[in-house]
Amino acid sequence: MDLLRRKTRSASFSPGRGVDIERILLENFRIEADYRYLPDRVLGQTLFSSDGRTTVVISRELSDYAEHYRGHARRFRSTLAHEIAHVALHTQLCVVRKKNASGPNAHCQAVMCRDGAIFPDKSRQEQCVRHSNDWWEYQANAGMSALLLPFDLVQIEIDDVLDYERYLSIRDLIRAGKGNKLVDHLSWAFNVSIQMVQIRVAKMETTVPN
Ligand SMILES: [Zn+2]
Repeated sequence: MDLLRRKTRSASFSPGRGVDIERILLENFRIEADYRYLPDRVLGQTLFSSDGRTTVVISRELSDYAEHYRGHARRFRSTLAHEIAHVALHTQLCVVRKKNASGPNAHCQAVMCRDGAIFPDKSRQEQCVRHSNDWWEYQANAGMSALLLPFDLVQIEIDDVLDYERYLSIRDLIRAGKGNKLVDHLSWAFNVSIQMVQIRVAKMETTVPN
């Protein structure tokens, strides 16, 4: 996923706006998302054609709300990043599956990405992996997180906060009761939810308070 961002020609990150996720989709895959009314609780969809072409669909309802509400804007960005991960990770898999299938292979025509599958909440993610095909959703969520919160850029922002607050480590910052300042800053800089920051930073083997 880092490669996708680095291959994007123009600057793909600015603090406060986050990673320019639409540009990554356009410049790497020549795809612009379609906005359509989708079934209840479906936020996004990736459609695979047998010739390797892929269509990304985002809920029109979500995109309308995203224009007015910051929480929905972040949800919109997460959904789009999740669909990009499906495109990057699963398009070729679908082409191969379809070529080898003796009959219609419905599993590879589309992925419908529901609310609970995209949410970056550990307990809900664990519920989701019990269903069939959910390893695709698990992979797409990991890709989403890597696109929205690239380790190298997150580390730069962490270092800025530590310099500003005059602490040597995140652990020292937390001990001083200022861990939330770091989480809030990363949430603002990368334009993602607090929960997504907490999960991502935890994966960087760092303790961040809830
Ligand atoms: Zn999905």
